[in-house]
Amino acid sequence: MAIRPSMAKLLALPPTLRRAVFSAATSSVTNPEIYDLVCVGGGPAGLSLVSALRSNPSTKNLKIALIDGQDITTTREPNDPNAFSNRCSSLTPSSVRFLKENGAWDHVNVSRIQPYHGMDVWDGVSGSKIQFDPADRIGGSILDTIAQAIPGSRLSESRKKYELGRDTHVATMCENANLTSALVHRLRETALEFEILDKTRVESIQLGPEPQDETSLDLSQWPIVTLPGDRNIAARLLVGADGANSPVRQFAGISSHGWDYGQHGVVATLQLNQTFGEDELRTAYQRFLPTGPIALLPLPGNKASLVWSTSAALASKLKQLSPADLVTMVNAAFRLMAVDLNYMLTDASCNVEEELKWREPNTKATETGLPSYFPRITGVQEGTVASFPLRMRHASTYTGHRVALIGDAAHTVHPLAGQGLNLGLADAESLAKIIGRGVEHGMDIGSCWCLDDYNAERWAANNAMLGVVDKLQKLYSASSGPVVWGRSLGLDIVNRLGPLKGALMGAASAS
Ligand SMILES: Cc1cc2nc3c(=O)[nH]c(=O)nc-3n(C[C@H](O)[C@H](O)[C@H](O)COP(=O)(O)OP(=O)(O)OC[C@H]3O[C@@H](n4cnc5c(N)ncnc54)[C@H](O)[C@@H]3O)c2cc1C
Repeated sequence: MAIRPSMAKLLALPPTLRRAVFSAATSSVTNPEIYDLVCVGGGPAGLSLVSALRSNPSTKNLKIALIDGQDITTTREPNDPNAFSNRCSSLTPSSVRFLKENGAWDHVNVSRIQPYHGMDVWDGVSGSKIQFDPADRIGGSILDTIAQAIPGSRLSESRKKYELGRDTHVATMCENANLTSALVHRLRETALEFEILDKTRVESIQLGPEPQDETSLDLSQWPIVTLPGDRNIAARLLVGADGANSPVRQFAGISSHGWDYGQHGVVATLQLNQTFGEDELRTAYQRFLPTGPIALLPLPGNKASLVWSTSAALASKLKQLSPADLVTMVNAAFRLMAVDLNYMLTDASCNVEEELKWREPNTKATETGLPSYFPRITGVQEGTVASFPLRMRHASTYTGHRVALIGDAAHTVHPLAGQGLNLGLADAESLAKIIGRGVEHGMDIGSCWCLDDYNAERWAANNAMLGVVDKLQKLYSASSGPVVWGRSLGLDIVNRLGPLKGALMGAASAS
């Protein structure tokens, strides 16, 4: 049932709001409100698309509605500056550039983000490793020159390299909530507030009615989004930024292919034994265990974000451990031989603390690949241990008639390369650019003439990245045999080849 505000209340509103409230209250499937673009999903992908459209003079006047079932507009400043969300993403320089260009980055709480400058990745079975640091990207010769000129610790060498190439960090850790709240702030600067319809779940999406006469607009091929209160919105272009189970993708009949990894990503915010200053260099660590990779990603101060991908059974076990035992298991997962770790994870009767105390001194770092400067985990922030099922999915196309998909609605990827959100932001940037071009050329932005370029630009690029990440996941799932030997040899070779390493690092941070 449409809600009809009393005429007196309606007339008291400012004219633009009055028009919107009136048309919302009187809309129906046969007489919907008409928007240029309706974006379902106010996660980072949807918000960044709308923010980019609002920042472009060609598209800033489009009539846009952004709909999300959750409360995305109430800004909740974290009470404790030392407490961090367990949902963090590592943003590549390319993603940060896009967010800077559309004005959202100015609203990010910089005291809660953490750039990192190096990345140490090693094989949990053979101990082979690959280390990336800024100088790999700016050229092996510079690395060599500095290493020769400044004898001393790895840290002091890296610091010097950092001074040389201030912008050469690999990526920036940012809480997803910090990013979405910055995007909402940016939208408030540029857009009228009622266009963000949060706490509003889409009830259904259907095609519009046949035109009643020759003079009425033909909406029969337009998606009509039905919201609670019988509010109906027709979209010239409907964007699905509505996550992995995308209702927009289902409405458009776009199939999505892939598989479940049978793994869960266990996340938590951890405390380290070292406190890092604001401008100190930080490193991200990842060890590939046969059950899945475990990553420790730096957050400000003495905090770090854990992403431990493992079997569903082990994930459930890890979540049930006491905080002290979880800390012990994470230390063990980075430090012990895979066989010792497996024993600790599977023998219910073992005292994990005693086991680690006994096994660690008898484990050689040369065999496990553990970097000498790897920190010790000392605590876990209360209430941050959670897990997410991991799967690979790719939509067969990102566009249909009056429909486009971005972010997780279009693809989901294993988190081992920290690419999911970065691919979603790249989709948003590409779609915003193509809509802008369509508007400038007087095109119908919902037509395939306009949208095809978006599909061409993003589908193949994402497919390649999804393929690489999937192969890596499979390559590192083997625990013995020639595969282990081959991958270790590969890692060692890449680690010694400065230019190839630089190219890989450039590719990883550009997506
Ligand atoms: C453990 C883990 C670690 C990760 N680490 C990284 C990383 O380091 N780097 C990285 O780039 N990526 C990472 N990712 C991936 C990243 O988190 C996701 O790719 C990203 O959050 C997806 O954003 P999105 O905006 O596309 O979708 P979502 O964040 O899922 O947003 C979808 C939105 O749609 C809304 N919605 C859905 N249905 C409806 C409906 N019917 N009506 C109204 N609203 C609706 C939802 O409320 C939601 O707000 C990680 C993922 C996991 C699981």
